[in-house]
Amino acid sequence: MDAEIIRDLLQCKLNDEAKPIQLNEEDLAEGIIECELSAYAKVLSLKEEFISIQGVFLALSKACNCKDIRDWVRGENPLLHPFNQCIFWLQVRGLKEEFFTWNVANKLVVAFQGCEEVELRRTKCGLKFFRIKAVLNVGTPLRRLVNFQVRDEVGCGYLAYERLPNLCFKCGLLGHLIRQCPDLGVGADPRKEVVYGLCIKAPM
Ligand SMILES: [Zn+2]
Repeated sequence: MDAEIIRDLLQCKLNDEAKPIQLNEEDLAEGIIECELSAYAKVLSLKEEFISIQGVFLALSKACNCKDIRDWVRGENPLLHPFNQCIFWLQVRGLKEEFFTWNVANKLVVAFQGCEEVELRRTKCGLKFFRIKAVLNVGTPLRRLVNFQVRDEVGCGYLAYERLPNLCFKCGLLGHLIRQCPDLGVGADPRKEVVYGLCIKAPM
């Protein structure tokens, strides 16, 4: 499922979205160790031996200091400034297991504007994902992808946003639906103009 979403996204024209975040081998070391231990545990359990391995259910909160979206300015009328930034929780899903490390989490904090918190979570099926709180510019299309580059290897994850308000599945902007999109030609069938997939909305 995740692999299919990423394959489809990579076929889209992504420009800046797909620009990779550079990682070092050390950034994955913790994840590789955990993956190796997981395989080891599975082998042992086949022999009816059991070892307990503590998972990486770590809350990576407050990984960096961050600024507020907009500082208060004495004497300024806030109503005169357009509201164009908003805080969202978004999920980074579909990455390979070894990418779920503290170092990778910290690189995400740097890569996303106004990122305050990052957590490592698991789905009900046990798949890991990062959950990050970041500031989005609501005047630009939603980003769909995050790419990591480690030497020649690329790790790709897709972004799923929590509690998204109205989103246009054609242009990726918030605040209108596809049938109201100014980019939709006269008489065009909105169903044939869909660019964004439902995976952009994080499951509740
Ligand atoms: Zn639109």
